[in-house]
Amino acid sequence: MEPVLEALALRLDAVLGPDRVITDPVRLRTYECDGLTTHRSTPGIVVLPDTAGQIAEIVRACAEAGVPYVARGSGTGLSGGALPRADGVLIVTSRMQRILEIDIPGQRAVVEPGVINLDVTRAVRPYGYYFAPDPSSQQICSVGGNVAENSGGAHCLKYGFTAHHVLGCEVVTPDGELVELAADGPGYDLLGVFVGAEGTLGITTKITVRLTRVPETVQTLLAAFESIEAGGTAVSAIIGAGVVPAAIEMMDALAIEAAEAAVHCEYPPGAGAVLIVELDGPDAEVAAQFAEVERLCRDAGAFEIRIAADDAERALIWRGRKSAFAAVGRISPAYLVQDGVIPRTVLPQVLARIDALSAESGVRVANVFHAGDGNLHPLVLFDDSEPGAAERAEEVSGAILDLCIEHGGSITGEHGVGVDKSRYMPRMFTDTDLDTMQMVRCGFDPAGLCNPGKVFPTPRLCGEVPGVRKGPHPYEGKADIF
Ligand SMILES: Cc1cc2nc3c(=O)[nH]c(=O)nc-3n(C[C@H](O)[C@H](O)[C@H](O)COP(=O)(O)OP(=O)(O)OC[C@H]3O[C@@H](n4cnc5c(N)ncnc54)[C@H](O)[C@@H]3O)c2cc1C
Repeated sequence: MEPVLEALALRLDAVLGPDRVITDPVRLRTYECDGLTTHRSTPGIVVLPDTAGQIAEIVRACAEAGVPYVARGSGTGLSGGALPRADGVLIVTSRMQRILEIDIPGQRAVVEPGVINLDVTRAVRPYGYYFAPDPSSQQICSVGGNVAENSGGAHCLKYGFTAHHVLGCEVVTPDGELVELAADGPGYDLLGVFVGAEGTLGITTKITVRLTRVPETVQTLLAAFESIEAGGTAVSAIIGAGVVPAAIEMMDALAIEAAEAAVHCEYPPGAGAVLIVELDGPDAEVAAQFAEVERLCRDAGAFEIRIAADDAERALIWRGRKSAFAAVGRISPAYLVQDGVIPRTVLPQVLARIDALSAESGVRVANVFHAGDGNLHPLVLFDDSEPGAAERAEEVSGAILDLCIEHGGSITGEHGVGVDKSRYMPRMFTDTDLDTMQMVRCGFDPAGLCNPGKVFPTPRLCGEVPGVRKGPHPYEGKADIF
């Protein structure tokens, strides 16, 4: 181990106490990647703090030693955001899993960053509330990770992303200070800047989340179509009719095949696409809109519609969708999970182009997507034992992102940029855009030690940002003009 890390490990040992600082090479390997398993790096040191005060001390120690650090929640991220540094410290929040306060009249809860997403709902459900952001990984991912990635889920079409459910955060800034960021504070919306910053602006140590009332009624249907185009037509018709479903999700034939093999979700045989539509709200409103959704699906060519009669049937419908990423492992030795966004209206065209890309390259692509907001999750399948297959899959995956950009969309909907997509940032943003974002980052982290190498295509020191003026400010000595 480098002498600087050795000295730092001793200092962190004194701060954290026994068995909270890992330097054993075998144990370190547990943390070498997140959900993006194609990128790996063994961390220099792993620390397991119990308190916000300890995180502040860790960050201060890293700052003084000039050592980079990365936060990690549950490590389910799909863009390599929690990829550690061999020359740095990985700060794992998995011991910080306390729900500190539940305030039902105020419709809020205060949680530590390592609290598992679904545990918030489990804790408040008896009071008739839940935590709305519902990534498919919600049984294992942390709220701290959700905040960093601004995670979404099937129900974000109606309820919004994590950003819409975070009222405040306690944060350790890169100079080791503990500060509070609040949604309703005066001045700049720094909480807004922080949520979704992928752990590059500081470390969240406490989160105040909004609680949402459990709706009076939930109704779910599964509609089977011969083609993905027909399913896309139904999506456009439903949204165009002014209905805002809680969720509207689509899977193509390959994704259905994988889900069937993995979890036996009993989707209609022979379907080229299935659409899951869920409506929630007051009884009368849901009943009226549900009839309309059913009609619109039939008009678009649905050959079978199943309506969940109870919770068990609803769970069966969702089981296939929620397991889709992992299920693809049943039909392919390896796969890449892509995350891109397109305007909903061009869904059929883009899906046809993805089909053509797949046919030309011979690389199979299974499509699963949040159809209502145009967030695609193509699963690009390959055999990692075949020479060149991973590279071909990468190419197809990149070409899909190009399609998203070409159609006015985005290179990520909810999985973040991380290390995986930093190289695509210049395809979406100009140099000036990227310089501006870099200046924001430098405002929080001038030394560049907080999760470096993520989000931006070319790591730069803060002094190198072109927009930062050298020499006196043009308004220096002219304070009276403000
Ligand atoms: C099967 C599967 C399904 C998924 N489905 C969805 C989905 O439907 N929607 C969706 O949005 N995502 C989904 N994801 C991606 C992932 O689960 C989310 O991004 C999740 O929010 C990550 O949480 P985590 O605790 O695992 O974070 P990690 O992977 O540990 O970290 C993610 C990022 O957050 C940063 N971070 C973590 N904790 C903190 C903290 N306390 N302070 C500052 N930064 C921090 C890390 O540095 C990293 O950049 C899925 C992943 C898998 C494996």
